[in-house]
Amino acid sequence: MAGKNNQKYLTLSGLEQLIVTPESNFINVGERTNVTGSRKFLKLIKEEKYNEALDVARDQVEGGAQILDVNMDEGMLDGKEAMITFLNLIASEPDIAKIPIMIDSSRWEIIESGLQVVQGKSVVNSISLKEGETEFVRQAKLIKRYGAAVIVMAFDEIGQADNYQRRIDICKRSYDILVNTVNFKPQDIIFDPNIFPVATGMDEHRRNALDFFEATKWIRDNLPYANVSGGVSNVSFSFRGNNVVREAMHSAFLFHAIKNGMNLGIVNPTMLEVYDEIDPNLLECVEDVLFNRRDDATERLLDFAETVKGQKREVDTAVQEWRTNDLQDRINHALVKGIDAFIIEDIEEARLSSNKPINVIEGPLMIGMNVVGDLFGSGKMFLPQVVKSARVMKKAVAYLQPFIEAEKDGKIEAAGKILMATVKGDVHDIGKNIVSVVLGCNNYDIIDLGVMVPPEKIIETAKKENVDIIGLSGLITPSLDEMVFVSKAMEKEKLDIPLIIGGATTSRAHSAVKIAPNYNNTVVHINDASRAVTVVGKLLHDNNQVYKNQIREEYESFKEQFLKRGKKKEYLSIEEARKNKFNIDWDNSEITTPKQLGIKVVEDFNIALLKDYIDWTPFFRSWDLHGKFPDILNDKIVGKQATELYEDAKAMLKQIFNEKLLLAKAIFGLFKANSVNDDDIEVHNEKGETISKFLTLRQQSTKSKGKPNIALADFIAPKSSNIQDHIGCFCVSTGFGTQELAEKFEAEHDDYNSIMIKALADRLAEAYAEFLHEHIRTKVWAYSVNENLNNKELIKEKYKGIRPAPGYPACPDHLEKETIWQLLKVEKKIGVKLTENLAMWPAASVSGYYFANEKARYFGLGKIKEDQIKDYSQRRNISIEASRKWLNPNIAD
Ligand code: SAH
Repeated sequence: MAGKNNQKYLTLSGLEQLIVTPESNFINVGERTNVTGSRKFLKLIKEEKYNEALDVARDQVEGGAQILDVNMDEGMLDGKEAMITFLNLIASEPDIAKIPIMIDSSRWEIIESGLQVVQGKSVVNSISLKEGETEFVRQAKLIKRYGAAVIVMAFDEIGQADNYQRRIDICKRSYDILVNTVNFKPQDIIFDPNIFPVATGMDEHRRNALDFFEATKWIRDNLPYANVSGGVSNVSFSFRGNNVVREAMHSAFLFHAIKNGMNLGIVNPTMLEVYDEIDPNLLECVEDVLFNRRDDATERLLDFAETVKGQKREVDTAVQEWRTNDLQDRINHALVKGIDAFIIEDIEEARLSSNKPINVIEGPLMIGMNVVGDLFGSGKMFLPQVVKSARVMKKAVAYLQPFIEAEKDGKIEAAGKILMATVKGDVHDIGKNIVSVVLGCNNYDIIDLGVMVPPEKIIETAKKENVDIIGLSGLITPSLDEMVFVSKAMEKEKLDIPLIIGGATTSRAHSAVKIAPNYNNTVVHINDASRAVTVVGKLLHDNNQVYKNQIREEYESFKEQFLKRGKKKEYLSIEEARKNKFNIDWDNSEITTPKQLGIKVVEDFNIALLKDYIDWTPFFRSWDLHGKFPDILNDKIVGKQATELYEDAKAMLKQIFNEKLLLAKAIFGLFKANSVNDDDIEVHNEKGETISKFLTLRQQSTKSKGKPNIALADFIAPKSSNIQDHIGCFCVSTGFGTQELAEKFEAEHDDYNSIMIKALADRLAEAYAEFLHEHIRTKVWAYSVNENLNNKELIKEKYKGIRPAPGYPACPDHLEKETIWQLLKVEKKIGVKLTENLAMWPAASVSGYYFANEKARYFGLGKIKEDQIKDYSQRRNISIEASRKWLNPNIAD
């Protein structure tokens, strides 16, 4: 029945999709939420400290885990209960629930209870033929019915597969049963062909790694669409205590396992060495063992291990020796390392020795950029480095330009012309700029129209410049609608070139369901810069039709499945949801009257005060380096790169502070307030007159027993209680000056610093929001006078009260920003504007409300039903269509 599946890739989901395509890098499963593997997690679960247990999960997600393994198998625990409780808690944490769950247990009843509560498409870990075919089929059928994927262990009635033949026999037998008897989709099968220790001293273990590699390759070649996974750290079990050797073994094992087709697995990222940086002698010993290449392989590795016990890795002693290399090597080095200090000198030398200046670009510079491209493509180089390489390249080209023009000897042959634009009403462009730079490095000619680009201009330019691809970007949700509009206009204007979509709120679902059907040429969603190069390459290849057809088919079948799935979920009507609101016992709640009511503008703020309030983790993420700060600085894979980026950032921050390059502005207001009609919040002046009204939205998904359907209004005392409550709102910006600085850098061909200043301005705006919130809690509203939290605690939101931001999950309604703007006179007082789609300008701005109640917390609104959209359109007095745009255009209806 394999032929019936048109979507052939393993697709999992939490709130977001995870599609495992051949282009995906290795998928890493986070395993700290496993009581058998983590003592810390076990302790938290035993003591029912679920909030802290959730922090463990969150750390995993922030650390880059793409699937979360949850295991509650411990004798002292009620595993079933713990699994249900924990999965339910995860479901209400959108920042965790965004990734798929791996329900891990050796007991079927725990797996099944997990399947009953988990949301999205999960993976079961694991089933096998251990208890015979009947039980295997029974479990597989249930898993299929619950809509999950499955890990199948190479285990049968006799025991675990411990050689090559048994591995492939068991996997083949399991596969045939699953595909033919159970009708399980082959792409939903993940084999775990057993990673066992090597170099144990036992002869029967000598082929353990090799058998795994070979079995993996066999599975991928012979069992169509099936995936392969494994737990890597097992391989080095006999070297416990010697991390230098273990890390090298893990990296080498992983390197070869991936080459043979392993596409997901459990790896501890802090226990990996960079493959290329493993000491060559050690690597040889390790690979001798992994491939069972010599009889004395184990002894030799043991001997080597003795010499490196407890040894620290050597520090790079980069001397300027490279300056003595020959010209091409120097150019390569400058490009790879992003060093621009000598590039003009070197390029001049190259120019003098070539016939035509253009040959310098087509020759030495292209050769160097190809080295960069290869390193990036194979995951050995990261984004910030590539952007730095581009800076060197651009400086070189700019230097050559006048010579090329003087000779009038033709233009540089580009690989294709790509138009990039941030859509109308949106001002965010960090991601778009990074993608442009990376494509530029790959010899594409980029026409960047900047931000807030109207559709007419996109289409007109595309026609005039005869571009090969249009790339649209945006960050806020209204931009999704804008992209739909552009795609329709492109069709109407008979454009016939591919459209690529990217940006934080865009998704494959939105592109497939809402954009692709409007447009006849290819629509592709790309969310990271490294994939952009591959996709664009395929789109512009001479024989691109096969690829384009494949994309269209994939998106169409994706759309069908997506629409089908959407209908299964159950929702409450808005009335029912209101009846199940979050109840606070107002008579017994502490309400603090603010020390100062009314509106205040913060004048002459010293921006340097924000230094210790910066949350660095999202900064690295904006450069595609994933991991939690400060651990990311020591990360085995991206640590070096992250450290370099961090040093550059700190240097620029220092300059921002010393030379007051950016201007910080803020305004806030604290008001008397009460909730009315369940979901509205009336704002009063000191006399008690209504001066404004905030509209909030209520969750409508059906909740498990006892769980409320929350709206932000639930955290403000209702008018009917006769208790006077309060609310606040604010806007801060650190973006004044960013644009000018970015333009100055761009004029110097320095994209690296242009992107850097924008990323830092964004960080400072968030830091200012954090700083101001603390000031409000301790000084102005003064309901937490004795609070004393450090930066880490602030980032973890350990304080009392919240500052939800319009456009975020608890309040996706962007129109609320207009209400805040009118109430505080934001634009008049501090100059921050709202675009037609309600993005804040300058981009580095944050706005939101203040809620002081100790019960107030962030939550995700989830989908809202038609009746609430209708109700909202009446409350807001706008059309249903407009309501949909502002609320949640991501919903496919
Ligand atoms: N420390 C982070 C905060 C970014 S989140 C950073 O520096 O990037 C941006 C803001 O969104 C938070 O400060 C918080 O005010 C708000 N927020 C978080 N979760 C929310 C939710 N579920 N609904 C509404 N606002 C939320």
